[in-house]
Amino acid sequence: MKKYLDFVSYNLWSLFSPPVGMENFHCHRKRGYTKVRKKEPQVQAILSQNTPSQQIGLLAQAVVYEFHHNHELLNSPNGTEEVAKILNLEREIDEVRQRVTQIINNYYSNPVLVGKNIHKIMRGDEGFPQPILIHHGNYQFNLFAAMDCIIIEPDGRYNILDFKTGTSDFDRRQALVYLLAARYLYPNQKVVASFYNLETQQESEFIEAGDIQLDAVEAELVKIAKKHQEELYKVRRKLVKFEDIYPESPGIQCKACDFNSICEFARLGVS
Ligand code: SF4
Repeated sequence: MKKYLDFVSYNLWSLFSPPVGMENFHCHRKRGYTKVRKKEPQVQAILSQNTPSQQIGLLAQAVVYEFHHNHELLNSPNGTEEVAKILNLEREIDEVRQRVTQIINNYYSNPVLVGKNIHKIMRGDEGFPQPILIHHGNYQFNLFAAMDCIIIEPDGRYNILDFKTGTSDFDRRQALVYLLAARYLYPNQKVVASFYNLETQQESEFIEAGDIQLDAVEAELVKIAKKHQEELYKVRRKLVKFEDIYPESPGIQCKACDFNSICEFARLGVS
């Protein structure tokens, strides 16, 4: 009998396959570092620290949370400075401090949650979400889906709102994972998902999916969860070589890759 359940998340899905249009920039070696070599000291050191982008994402979420929980800050002439102080922004490196300051200013001038019926909002530092146990035929697996915020729309629908930063396009697959999670968490609710970028202030349309589409998403996630475990099994037992399962793809993507300081192929990508 298996001790641990297989698991899957949007993050794992994106490590297997990139969003549409990003195929040429995808590198499977990153999955190898993240999932197989994560206990090696150099890899562990990288994974234990937030990259600037991750730190900006976390702090951006905290900006929304703080303004939501301290409404008076939105009316205070010092509201932006107060939030920067709560977040200890002065301790951050320049890039993080500057971009998060912009996010604070953006939200202060355009507080998109004001007037909304908030069912739940996270600060972003709560750690791993509770897994959702999914029974797919005889197969059981855990689905992880950390939801930033859920709004109850005027028509009663739950809107799972995901806050973004940076310039990447919204990935519809992430919304579909939320909608699948919601099918288990809120079985009697009508649910949509959407994105809002706190830097560019762009918002997505509401994304919806019916049962047939969510069945297909679930089947895809089952494939990924199984494939991931199969890969781990084969590599750990040395049935296949690490580099055969996780081939490198050097290219322009190496520049922004978390592992470029330890990957021997990074120089091919950034030259
Ligand atoms: S540095 Fe380049 S080749 Fe190496 S893992 Fe990152 S993207 Fe892949």
